[in-house]
Amino acid sequence: MSEFCLKCFNDINGTEVCEDEVLLSEDAEFCEGCGEMERVVISSKRNNRWQEFFRRMFSRYRD
Ligand SMILES: [Zn+2]
Repeated sequence: MSEFCLKCFNDINGTEVCEDEVLLSEDAEFCEGCGEMERVVISSKRNNRWQEFFRRMFSRYRD
């Protein structure tokens, strides 16, 4: 699974989530977006909201 820092995560997904809304890695990891060592997004704390978001994203691509 790709790992992205919060900034790249937002850029890629077109979102503006803040640190409070996601779970970031404890330590700096390699971000596949900007290539920097940053804390990366592991998962969202608001699972229901995000599952719906991703479902909408994927259904859009499927059309
Ligand atoms: Zn990044």
